[in-house]
Amino acid sequence: MSSHLTQAQLAELRSELDRQLRKLERSMRTTTRVMKPVQLDQSSVGRLSRIDNLQTQGLTKGLQEREQAKLGQIAEAFRRLDAGTYGRCVVCSEPILFERLLIFPEAPNCSGCAGR
Ligand SMILES: [Zn+2]
Repeated sequence: MSSHLTQAQLAELRSELDRQLRKLERSMRTTTRVMKPVQLDQSSVGRLSRIDNLQTQGLTKGLQEREQAKLGQIAEAFRRLDAGTYGRCVVCSEPILFERLLIFPEAPNCSGCAGR
């Protein structure tokens, strides 16, 4: 299957995916640190800071789920690159605009199917 993207464009998108993957790995290391269980030593930690801690974990949990989802999308994008199907919408098979891929290199859908 031939791609609507040139070799140079594909190389650029591959390195952009690489960059995003490294950035995501860094941010996931931080998230994992914050998600360590709350210290339950009541004598050294006041009630307010325990509540604070739990709220931070709640926010972080949502972030962690988004990070996991994005990691999955990036992995899929690499698979499509290797399979030569990268750059086509997985729903309607239409070519995805290069400009869109530059912003969302992990995007599996065209803007029509993704609704943005
Ligand atoms: Zn589509």
